[in-house]
Amino acid sequence: MSEIDLHTHSTASDGTYSPTELVKAGQETGLKALALTDHDTTKGLPEAVSAGHKFGLEVIPGCELSVEYPQGQMHIVGLWLPTSPKSLGQELDYLRNRRHARNERIIDKLTSLGIDINYEQVKNLAGEATIGRPHIARVLCQKKVVRNIQEAFDQFIGPQGQAYVPKEKFTPQKAIQILKQEKATVILAHPYSLELQTNQLRLELIKLQSIGLDGMEVFYSEHDPKQTSTYLGLCQELGLLISGGSDFHGRVKPNIFLGKGKGNLDLKYELLEKMKDYRTEQGLWIT
Ligand code: AMP
Ligand code: ZN
Ligand code: FE
Ligand code: FE
Repeated sequence: MSEIDLHTHSTASDGTYSPTELVKAGQETGLKALALTDHDTTKGLPEAVSAGHKFGLEVIPGCELSVEYPQGQMHIVGLWLPTSPKSLGQELDYLRNRRHARNERIIDKLTSLGIDINYEQVKNLAGEATIGRPHIARVLCQKKVVRNIQEAFDQFIGPQGQAYVPKEKFTPQKAIQILKQEKATVILAHPYSLELQTNQLRLELIKLQSIGLDGMEVFYSEHDPKQTSTYLGLCQELGLLISGGSDFHGRVKPNIFLGKGKGNLDLKYELLEKMKDYRTEQGLWIT
């Protein structure tokens, strides 16, 4: 049974649980600590932290940034952010504005394919959340243009889809720099998604470490036992912190459970303890 989950999403990005519901679910699942790491936003953090106080759960304020990478997907998680970070907030506002432009281009492409959809419908569904492709996918489902979310991505809005538009992202350097500016601990999320051989990953990690990377997400819902042990070995070899999380999104990813992932996660509080010791050594503040 996991004691911690250091990678989760709420309605502030594309999860289906509000920050409060997420923290409550964490407490009910028996977690001691949970990090909220919404995509490209920190807007859910104040609510999550106050829910943490209410439900007696340690909440680590974080976020997950998608960054430019020539292949696969590189995501970088920052942990122990301020709940309302100023300079990161401004950088994220910029990205969000770029996102709106991108969403509009996706909708335009869908419309030109003869699909009856407009941005207002997507905004209504998303509410306060940062609008992204999952919201567009849900509207396409509601309208029965596709049978399910996967089909929406495969046919229309995924990289091979007819209405695909790439997202503007920070470089890894920039992302690490702005997270560090906020005194965050910087973790490479789900390294399997870089689609690198072990040797290539080692080189990439050394590069990232030289610009401030602190750790890597070794334990993750989609990692098989062999990947997990490879990533663990790399962390030990390079002196990187070991992180772990489910990437819980609520019912948009129904096979991934908070703290449990696909049943493959057993995350001990000790991982978090090691991170805190490391932060203390660096003279950084801990929530
Ligand atoms: P966006 O930030 O708007 O590009 O959307 C990215 C999100 O879309 C990811 O976090 C995933 O949750 C979701 N996503 C990407 N590809 C797929 C897929 N094939 N099926 C379901 N969800 C996906
Ligand atoms: Zn997501
Ligand atoms: Fe991710
Ligand atoms: Fe995630």
